[in-house]
Amino acid sequence: MIDRQRLYATFMELCSIDSEPKNERPMADRLTAILKELGFSVTEDDTGTRIGGNAGNLIARLEGTKPGAPLLFSCHMDRVAPGVRVKPRIEGNYIVSDGTTVLGADDAAGLAAIIEGVTVIRGQNIPHPTLEVLFTVAEELALTGSAHLESSRITSRCGFVLDAGGPVGEIVVQAPEQAKINAVFHGRSAHAGFAPEEGISAIQMAALAITRMKLLRIDPETTANIGSIQAAGPTNIVCDRCSLQAEARSLDPAKLQAQVEVMVEAMENAAAEMGGSVEVDVQRCYPSYRLEQDAEPVRRAAEAAGRIGVPVRFKPTGGGSDANHFNNRGIPAVVLSCGYEKVHTTGERIALEQLDLLGRWVVAIVSGG
Ligand SMILES: [Zn+2]
Repeated sequence: MIDRQRLYATFMELCSIDSEPKNERPMADRLTAILKELGFSVTEDDTGTRIGGNAGNLIARLEGTKPGAPLLFSCHMDRVAPGVRVKPRIEGNYIVSDGTTVLGADDAAGLAAIIEGVTVIRGQNIPHPTLEVLFTVAEELALTGSAHLESSRITSRCGFVLDAGGPVGEIVVQAPEQAKINAVFHGRSAHAGFAPEEGISAIQMAALAITRMKLLRIDPETTANIGSIQAAGPTNIVCDRCSLQAEARSLDPAKLQAQVEVMVEAMENAAAEMGGSVEVDVQRCYPSYRLEQDAEPVRRAAEAAGRIGVPVRFKPTGGGSDANHFNNRGIPAVVLSCGYEKVHTTGERIALEQLDLLGRWVVAIVSGG
């Protein structure tokens, strides 16, 4: 089966390669070399130049040794900051960073598990269908890399995105759609002491709008949050400009639409009532997805998890991943939990046993039916 020491070594090597978003060049080069050694043909798209980064998405293909529909395995190459000069080490049953950076298990655990899985399959001549591997850039920048992927480059209609916390065996079958709202309130400045009645406070407008919004947990499927608000000026001037940034997410596109409308309406009404104005820009970041339990990738992932002896659990997530884009573009893909913990913090870690299981899960999915 899998070679644990080789898997840990691959994982720690990948963690130690600098790979913050838009600076994935060293990681892309190393992964290209590894994939070629494994027999893949590897191409890189032009996403790097289009997003101002130094590497594009890697798309790799290994022809099958048995008939059957191709399978897609995907991870992202980037990681959140602080993610350079990572010094991974084994501490007890875990791999950890030195505490000054993230570990980068998100998403090097997935990268290493795919590499180890394919290494085992090739080394032991396990028959496999055609395998497509897609390593994306800038996932941590609101899924920018996968947003720029030309989906015609992928032929698989059954995908596995190794990119979620939680123990190996958990399968993410639902993820929300997200919208970002940027608003700028315009009032009228006036001297706050001599002629305040001539002024219209943009800060008051924003405050009035916010107090009328329902925020945070809206319903079991929907959330909303004001992330920041900016207005600056001296106390003796009625402030005429205030900007705010907000987001809303929902597993149900209609509920997201409704929540965004309520928030925008609150802003427009507050501005109108106070005699000012507001410019609102709404951006849809990524679409939601929902897969049934009999969908091919869900069925295969669950069957394989059963074969390696881990409990299977289907779950929704509150966050987005590259799978949102894949599903929306006709490539059904589930997200698999990788066993890492405390991601996006300097306390990020992964249990050795979870990394083993993740590698075994990849082998089981590929060799399953
Ligand atoms: Zn991730």
